Amino acid sequence: MSSKQSKTDCVFCKIASGEIPAKILYRDDEVFAFPDINPITPVHVLVVSVKHIGSLAEMPDAETPLVGKMVRVANQLAREQGILKSGYRLTINSGADAGQLVPHLHIHLMGGRQLDWKH
Ligand code: 5GP
Ligand code: ZN
Repeated sequence: MSSKQSKTDCVFCKIASGEIPAKILYRDDEVFAFPDINPITPVHVLVVSVKHIGSLAEMPDAETPLVGKMVRVANQLAREQGILKSGYRLTINSGADAGQLVPHLHIHLMGGRQLDWKH
C-alpha cells in the first residue's frame, strides 16, 4: 500500500481534512486534537500529527521533535480540560500487541478519574 493510499483510507487523515467530522479542540500546521469517539475516561482526547505517520515504530528519527510538540499540546489540553493538577496519562499505542487500531500517529490524553495501570 502506498502512503497515498493509506492517507486516502485513513480515518485520522479524513478527520484532518474535514471529511469525517470531529470536535476539533486544537489545530495548527502540525498537530490537531479532538475527543475520542469511544472515551474510556472522562477526559479522553486524541492528539494527532497532521502528517500521516503510520505508527511510532514507523516514525522517522527526523520527526522526533514533532512528538515533543504533541506532548506540549497534550499538556496544554490537559490544562484546558481541567486535569493538569488532578493528573493524567499520555499513551501511544504502536502495533498489534499494543492494540493500535488506527494506523496514524496519535497520543491518547486520558484523565478525569483515578486510573488503574491499564485503563
Ligand atoms: P488506538 O487503538 O489506535 O491507539 O486508538 C485509536 C482511537 O481512535 C480509539 O480509541 C478509537 O475510539 C478512536 N477513533 C477511531 N475512529 C474514530 C473517529 O472516527 N472519531 C474519533 N473521534 N475517534 C475515533
Ligand atoms: Zn492518516
